[in-house]
Amino acid sequence: MPDSTLYWLNGRLRPEQEAVIPVMDHGLLYGDGVFEGIRFYHRRPFRLAAHLQRLADSCAAIRLTLPYTREKLAEAVDEIIGAFPEENGYLRLMVTRGTGPMGLDPAGCTRPNAILIAARLEMVHPELRQEGVRLIIAATRRLPADGLDPRIKSLNYLNPILARMEATRAGAQEAVLLNGQGRVAEGSAENLFIVRDGLLATPRPVDGALAGITRGIILALAAALNVPAREVPLTPYDLYTADECFLTGTGAELIPVREVDGRPLRHCPGPIFSTLARAFHEQVERETHPEGQAT
Ligand code: PMP
Repeated sequence: MPDSTLYWLNGRLRPEQEAVIPVMDHGLLYGDGVFEGIRFYHRRPFRLAAHLQRLADSCAAIRLTLPYTREKLAEAVDEIIGAFPEENGYLRLMVTRGTGPMGLDPAGCTRPNAILIAARLEMVHPELRQEGVRLIIAATRRLPADGLDPRIKSLNYLNPILARMEATRAGAQEAVLLNGQGRVAEGSAENLFIVRDGLLATPRPVDGALAGITRGIILALAAALNVPAREVPLTPYDLYTADECFLTGTGAELIPVREVDGRPLRHCPGPIFSTLARAFHEQVERETHPEGQAT
């Protein structure tokens, strides 16, 4: 399959050889930067305003000035989607602190770098989307929320990467990270939900969950569909004994889980998962289909 990845850097689309960042960029030297992952469907970005808001919040939290207005970033998104060879895909929008002298002080970094990449993304094999994935509970913990607020989508993903490596070694597709207190936080790049006795439950941001945009949509859809839902502390036991479990994220969309640490779940895909997944995809169509309500 030909590589269809596109690159936009600091104001314009560029060929891959020109889409380069200097080695002295503090994003590379120190992971000093933030990002968003955004999907587009029918050449329309899904929930772009929410992603741009979260990016602006991440920037504010680390005192990084967004080098472009949200309007300009939205134009860049339109431009890269327009040039992409397919109707659906994934965008990675990053802002780094920029180039500066060696040393942690970012005062010498005067110009942040803004990067936008459009690519295909297949998080899991389509068959696994149907059958469900295997999870392990990783030994690697989520960084404590009082060390680095999980709402900052920073460029440093070492903990989730280490957790994913554990999953792969164990023959599983995804890892669950616990926080320092042993409570479930989330997957490596997804939020996690369980269903028990008809109740939908997901960990709270204070327990280390990112306030995921997909997570928010699922909670809103659950409310609209009269599925009782709660943000509650969860432990590995809750996962082992759940009726259903699934992961949510921009890249993941909704992925059912069939096994946690070798314990098969009762239903996969379960009825509540299936109801919410259908409602989610209908919502995506409503918001991105060129004919609006026509789904
Ligand atoms: N948790 C983490 C750590 C993530 O990186 C992501 C993906 N951005 C998510 C959860 C899911 O969030 P969203 O639905 O906003 O993509």
